[in-house]
Amino acid sequence: MQRRALIIGGSVGGLLGYALLRQAGWNATIFERTVGDLAGRGAGLGISQNLVDILRRIGARFEPSAGSAHDAYVWMERNESISFSHRRPTVGSTWPRVYKPLRALVPAQDYRQGANLVRITQEGDAVTAHFADGAQETGDILVAADGVFSTVRQQFLPDVAPSFASYVAWRGLAEESEMSAAALAAIGHQVVYCFPEGEMLLAMTVPGVGDDMRPGHRRIYFIWYRRTSSSELRDLFTDASGRHHGISIPPPLIRSEFIVALRDHARSVLPSCICEAVMRAPQILLQAVSDLQVPQMVFGRVALMGDAAFVARPHTAAGVSKAALDAQCLADELVSCEGDIDGALARYEKARLAFGQQLCAHSRYLGAYLEGLDQERDPEKIIRDYGAQSLLRDVEVAAFSAH
Ligand SMILES: Cc1cc2nc3c(=O)[nH]c(=O)nc-3n(C[C@H](O)[C@H](O)[C@H](O)COP(=O)(O)OP(=O)(O)OC[C@H]3O[C@@H](n4cnc5c(N)ncnc54)[C@H](O)[C@@H]3O)c2cc1C
Repeated sequence: MQRRALIIGGSVGGLLGYALLRQAGWNATIFERTVGDLAGRGAGLGISQNLVDILRRIGARFEPSAGSAHDAYVWMERNESISFSHRRPTVGSTWPRVYKPLRALVPAQDYRQGANLVRITQEGDAVTAHFADGAQETGDILVAADGVFSTVRQQFLPDVAPSFASYVAWRGLAEESEMSAAALAAIGHQVVYCFPEGEMLLAMTVPGVGDDMRPGHRRIYFIWYRRTSSSELRDLFTDASGRHHGISIPPPLIRSEFIVALRDHARSVLPSCICEAVMRAPQILLQAVSDLQVPQMVFGRVALMGDAAFVARPHTAAGVSKAALDAQCLADELVSCEGDIDGALARYEKARLAFGQQLCAHSRYLGAYLEGLDQERDPEKIIRDYGAQSLLRDVEVAAFSAH
């Protein structure tokens, strides 16, 4: 008898889970509450060899043009001089470049949009998902890939929530075509780090609109970490009508005075090539950097995965790779369990709890400087530490398009 998996969340984690479980011989259905295409919403993304291998395994089209190769991490001073260079080949891509080929693998009947899970019940070996419109679906397992604010996690672990790490990340993408030739030459094929006092910014080239990798048609992506008090945080995430959005605000609702202040600050502290990117980015995104860790990932026939379980700070650039490894581990355990689904879920939980804990610990270490906890750490050490990520395999850069 074919087993059935209910997958809650149709973003990258849910899609990976779907593809791997289907390969393992399971019947699977995705339930996603958002209606419409998610592809327009993502920004820059780190690529690991683990992710590339898993995409290849499930036959997702992730071609060499999907990533922009970088040679080194460099510390750039305000006058654009390079104080330190650490050779480290990496690949930057964008979220839609991973999401779209995964989405293309799922036939329409297996991807139910507008399905908002509200509750789960379990009886014997069966798990039932209850949706806001009154619909119900029953399966052998339920995979919770419903992200950082997971409804599933809130049901089983109501006290676990993201905790603010006392700094925020401002992000943006500027078109190369809008930038000066001098700025693009200064950024070059490197990941540029800037260290305004107590802050940190990273900038790099990523594919452009329509996944264009031709010089002049790509984009410059930046992520700028800035310390923020809890009271400032509340203000930042409150829109012009006075509505507070918790720790996640839609970009168009960020108050314009904050964008003006960010750009003013950019003019006074950043090298001009990076400042240009901050000025030219048409839309600025804001994220409250936070930590999320669970003590348990499996509840009967329910398994948490991806951001529903652990969210490491963005320094590790590992969110999508971690979701992919969670999905792969779950599918591999289920395929080799000879019918012992509970045993497979227990082994999944043991392996992925350990990974999530280590990844979060490493990301907290990398972010300690931004919390003001380790002022002794100088930029050279920070850059070397960023390069020392050992939980994921470095991507084989030679396979990706050069600049
Ligand atoms: C639109 C979007 C853009 C992103 N862009 C980037 C990026 O540019 N760079 C980056 O590093 N990371 C990005 N991420 C985050 C990244 O996808 C995750 O860090 C990682 O891939 C793990 O993904 P996930 O599938 O576990 O969670 P998520 O990607 O957060 O997806 C969770 C999904 O569950 C759905 N969902 C939530 N609650 C319910 C419910 N009750 N019922 C049904 N469905 C529900 C959500 O609508 C969402 O689609 C983005 C996520 C999204 C949703």
